[in-house]
Amino acid sequence: MQKYVPILFLLLFFSCTVSREQPNIILFLVDDLGWQDTSVPFWSEKTPFNRRYHTPNMERLAAQGMKFTQAYATSVCSPTRVSLMTGMNAARHRVTNWTLRKDELKSMEINHPDLIFPDWNVNGMSPDSSIANAVYATPLPKLLQQAGYLTIHAGKAHFGAIGTPGENPLNLGFAINIAGHAAGAPGSYYGTENFGNHPDGSPKNVWSVPGLSEFHGQNINLTEALTQKAISVMDSAVTFAQPFFLYMAHYTVHTPIMADERFFQKYIDSGLDTVEARYASMIEGMDKSLGDLMDYLEKRKLDDNTVILFMSDNGGLSAVARGGEKHTHNKPLSSGKGSAHEGGIREPMIVKWPGTVKEGSISHDYLIIEDFFPTLLDIAGINNPQTVQSIDGISFTPMLRQQASTATERALYWHFPNEWGPSGPGIGASSTIRKDNWKLIYYHKDQRFELFNLDADIGEQKNLANKELEKLQELAKSLTNYLKSIDAQMPIDKKNGKQIPYPFE
Ligand code: CA
Repeated sequence: MQKYVPILFLLLFFSCTVSREQPNIILFLVDDLGWQDTSVPFWSEKTPFNRRYHTPNMERLAAQGMKFTQAYATSVCSPTRVSLMTGMNAARHRVTNWTLRKDELKSMEINHPDLIFPDWNVNGMSPDSSIANAVYATPLPKLLQQAGYLTIHAGKAHFGAIGTPGENPLNLGFAINIAGHAAGAPGSYYGTENFGNHPDGSPKNVWSVPGLSEFHGQNINLTEALTQKAISVMDSAVTFAQPFFLYMAHYTVHTPIMADERFFQKYIDSGLDTVEARYASMIEGMDKSLGDLMDYLEKRKLDDNTVILFMSDNGGLSAVARGGEKHTHNKPLSSGKGSAHEGGIREPMIVKWPGTVKEGSISHDYLIIEDFFPTLLDIAGINNPQTVQSIDGISFTPMLRQQASTATERALYWHFPNEWGPSGPGIGASSTIRKDNWKLIYYHKDQRFELFNLDADIGEQKNLANKELEKLQELAKSLTNYLKSIDAQMPIDKKNGKQIPYPFE
């Protein structure tokens, strides 16, 4: 009998604080999913990739919601995830590269031949101000929790370094944490391999996925295990009539590229090489998870009161570990994960909001990852959020309501004073601005510019930096003003010991 006391308390508590208008929210964030890694076309025409991959549930979601063709994230994991949880641009929160170990710069940054990198926030985000090299911020789930939501984290967290409070989603306002910790990749996708843990359940290394021991030894994919757990927790929220926020942050389709056996063979049969067939099977496994969540909502008659936002955290991997030719996996976009080119930052995004978003609609207005923070607060009906940080994001609910565009007159900014590792088009320390159809990239190492007209050249093949001097100057000024206004960090040139100048200095 004793175990029912807290439940009764919860019921009484939430019946007082929750209005019936609060919809459930599912933020379905896929890791490293490229703009073309789907059978849903996000370009003006269907591509060979749209024909290669099978994502029937993304198609289903797009038919019930709004597809965004120009949704942006940053080019690597942690900056995106911290922007999502804080509403801050990466240049402001300074978690500009991916995090893992406390107070530790990565070897490729320490040993860079030309640049000394700034003291960026290697420890990620922190819910308290006492952690050095971390951004102190009020996290999104905390605000949703305060407004009465059951906040559920499922999958990859990757918000803070090992040994800091930010590594644990429970310290960021999540009431439930399913399998999230500091690391940004799983040791294994297979239950038969205990998701990278020892047979006794103890972790082998930093990549061992925590908290799914009931599936150890079973023939089950990590994506499926996370989905089953997430559904069972959602079900408990529904039972107690509490609105929920499910952050369904899949580890997939990040490396290690391991076949999802449920879907692998058909991609081999279709003629793909082994690596690409594995990758395609991971995409379809992710899509099945989306479908299972949608089926659950329909079965429990929750679909009319649940908003689903589908997003990826950076572009599709293309510089390493893939089959076929490098830097081509996001075509027509150039390059991939880690790049300032479109292949590194443009994401497949879909939003279903029953009764508000028109079914089967498309928005071509651009937006960026920090915009999710104020948007989710809007959807939850939280009007005056109290945060310790300044918010850069702008709510995209006017687009969802088809009332206005927040893209007009607005520029988007990226800032990566860092080293990712591999090389390729658009990869390297850089600052970028997008305004209207124009995009300017400034490379820190040699202070070189690339200027593209995306309307005419979505593949970023024609650098107009030497032709459109006025446009270059205008964008370089705007970018410089922005970077200065938030005191953005810049690397130091090893040759002369001086800070790399801002683009227009
Ligand atoms: Ca990622």
